[in-house]
Amino acid sequence: HAKDQGRKNFQFFTKSLLIASEERLHFENQLRTALEQEQFELYYQAQVDTEQNRIWGMEALIRWNHPDRGFIGPDRFIPIAEETDIIHPLGAWVIRKACQQLARWKQATDTPPQVSVNLSAKQLHSADLIDTVHEAMETYQIMDGELELEITETAAMSDPEVAINQLSRLSELGVSLAIDDFGTGYSSLAYLKKLPINTLKLDRTFVRDIENDRNDAEICMATIALAHNLGLKVIAEGVETQLQRDFLAEHSCDYLQGYLFSRPLPPNEAELLLSPDGVIPARESHADTPA
Ligand code: C2E
Ligand code: MG
Ligand code: MG
Ligand code: MG
Repeated sequence: HAKDQGRKNFQFFTKSLLIASEERLHFENQLRTALEQEQFELYYQAQVDTEQNRIWGMEALIRWNHPDRGFIGPDRFIPIAEETDIIHPLGAWVIRKACQQLARWKQATDTPPQVSVNLSAKQLHSADLIDTVHEAMETYQIMDGELELEITETAAMSDPEVAINQLSRLSELGVSLAIDDFGTGYSSLAYLKKLPINTLKLDRTFVRDIENDRNDAEICMATIALAHNLGLKVIAEGVETQLQRDFLAEHSCDYLQGYLFSRPLPPNEAELLLSPDGVIPARESHADTPA
């Protein structure tokens, strides 16, 4: 009976794998169509200067506005785009679109933000990346320090030679570089020192329990100290509460990003935050006690 049982399981296994791969192919084709039909949109989330309480940057975050299924978040399609070659045209679209937006904000606002764009590991290791970035910067007249690229720790650490080379070339183009989700991957500090990076992004899993978890609080403080000792800026992700903000400000975190300040917003709504009377909450915890 064991044999029968085994065969049965095997059939079940192959069948479900088959379905999975069919669904996957379908999904892949939909991604291609989505790119052709411009179903993707970039949303922007504010990054706030801790001291001045002003918007310093805007992170571009992709969404798929699917005709039947509505908005789909990047965690659900970027991995599949990465496993196929779609990430290359998709990633190039994101870079161009973000530069176009930045050019518009430089024209339309008095204090334009820097704009950050997420890069996937595959993009970082692609030979076309440098040309894509260079062309987009030329087309939209993007200057030194106006565009930032975010690379996850894992992407930066895989194949270090290539990563160092690519990051150096990007840096030469005048692009700022940030290590995203810092603390969740596996970094060698010796290697980190060799990368031409400007900023560490403290992962939001450490920020989340900062008030209650002593270890998380220690990790945040240690990361800020490490970054500053290496001459880097630190930005904390996922800041949702006033207490988290106060803690991070007290411990000299340079920039803050999270729902406390703003959700990711479509470009026109993000632009409203850039006007002098945009609505970044005031610094003091007790600033808005009701009259
Ligand atoms: P990430 O770059 O670490 O982006 C931060 C994520 O945290 C975003 O999710 C953002 O909406 C979310 N977030 C921001 N503030 C808060 C907060 O206060 N609380 C909580 N719980 N979450 C917050 P999103 O937009 O779903 O993006 C997920 C990931 O997808 C990004 O993580 C990034 O790795 C990737 N991604 C997004 N856009 C792109 C893109 O254009 N290209 C590539 N390759 N990856 C992208
Ligand atoms: Mg990011
Ligand atoms: Mg992140
Ligand atoms: Mg993340």
